Amino acid sequence: MPDVVHGPRIVIIGGGIGGLAAAAFLRRAGLTATVHEQASALTEVGAGLVVAPNAVRLVRRLGVMEQLLRRAVPLDWGWEFRRWADGSVLSVENLSGVCERLYGERTYVVHRADLLDTVLAAVPGEWIRLGARCASVEAVSDGALVRFTDGGHIEADVVVGADGMHSVVREAVTEPAPPEYSGLCAFRTIVPGHAAPDFALRRAQTLWLGPGRHFVHYPIAGGQAVNVVAVAPAGDFTDESWSATATIEELRAEFAGWDPRVTDLIAAGGAPGRWALMDRAPLRRWSRGRVTLLGDAAHPMFPFFGQGAAQSIEDAAVLAHCLAASADDPGQALKRYQSARIERTTRLQQVSHARRDINHLPDGPEQQARDTALAGSDPLVSNGWIYGHDAEAALTP
Ligand SMILES: Cc1cc2nc3c(=O)[nH]c(=O)nc-3n(C[C@H](O)[C@H](O)[C@H](O)COP(=O)(O)OP(=O)(O)OC[C@H]3O[C@@H](n4cnc5c(N)ncnc54)[C@H](O)[C@@H]3O)c2cc1C
Repeated sequence: MPDVVHGPRIVIIGGGIGGLAAAAFLRRAGLTATVHEQASALTEVGAGLVVAPNAVRLVRRLGVMEQLLRRAVPLDWGWEFRRWADGSVLSVENLSGVCERLYGERTYVVHRADLLDTVLAAVPGEWIRLGARCASVEAVSDGALVRFTDGGHIEADVVVGADGMHSVVREAVTEPAPPEYSGLCAFRTIVPGHAAPDFALRRAQTLWLGPGRHFVHYPIAGGQAVNVVAVAPAGDFTDESWSATATIEELRAEFAGWDPRVTDLIAAGGAPGRWALMDRAPLRRWSRGRVTLLGDAAHPMFPFFGQGAAQSIEDAAVLAHCLAASADDPGQALKRYQSARIERTTRLQQVSHARRDINHLPDGPEQQARDTALAGSDPLVSNGWIYGHDAEAALTP
């Protein structure tokens, strides 16, 4: 790791996976930063994440791979698509050995808190300020002024908005654009390993596709729990926060008539969290002057490709590289960062959006055509543009 040198004063708003990854990569690049997080503790809600090779190779470069491996489950089977009514396998990706051979890394599933802790291990504790809620960011000459809700403020040479879906920093960069209602919500629940059937403890990411809904599960926490995410019609529910809860009965009712392995798994879990999926068009810009965005603040996406956190880690690596390369011209560095990233993240937003309809086709000719196409496809290869991407190597000098 290089010695820390003096450089621009970099302020990161938000201590989620993206903000902490930005701090970790800046440190690796020899720069310093402070992370300002509104919460009084660094935590992630109890749900799982897929960590695909494009993110794993960057986590490895942070030197915290051991930390990840302590709790992550390596997948032997990825994207195992099954039919809603009887569980027949529509297609399955064999990851054992193949993923490493193609992309140099395995694919893991992990509790979100474990990924957060992994990235946190690469950030000096004194860089993090908790209970600091940003109220606004405004441009000043050669920098930006960050105001906090407690009345405090700081000046920075660079401000990075890693403050998620409802970013306040975004207002300093682009016109406000309210999200659109998608009509869908995601339920999530965790099933303790001892209550989960062996079927759900396999090292597989299983997706059950059915009319208007889909259901995903995979093991997390070293195999001691099963993460369940179910996407279903939202009705008039519009709360975009996991802290909203539903009942097991409500979730079971959504999947009534599905293969009993689905409904039994729901019954074995705790009360589900519920999250309305809002639709947001890709931004045309996310850097202005000395202020930029990263992760969900820049490019929120439907979770159907499991790439939101991975893209925030890619952003972090590229941002650090650009800032270190042009430490005396941060405005130029932020432009370079945006232009290196925006095409790829826009494409991921678009393909994630398109999968909403494909995953939820009613039974009929279109669904049959989809299932035939799935049977003949190899997502491990067709998604090579996602998994094979090395965000740092892709940077042109
Ligand atoms: C159902 C579901 C499943 C998903 N599955 C996957 C998956 O398998 N793989 C994957 O890679 N991604 C997945 N994602 C996406 C992933 O969770 C997000 O893309 C990722 O967490 C974004 O990280 P972030 O740091 O940009 O934002 P966030 O995680 O939202 O973090 C933002 C942080 O900023 C803080 N903050 C907000 N406002 C302020 C403020 N004003 N001042 C100070 N702090 C502030 C917040 O408290 C928070 O800590 C999924 C998402 C969902 C909803």
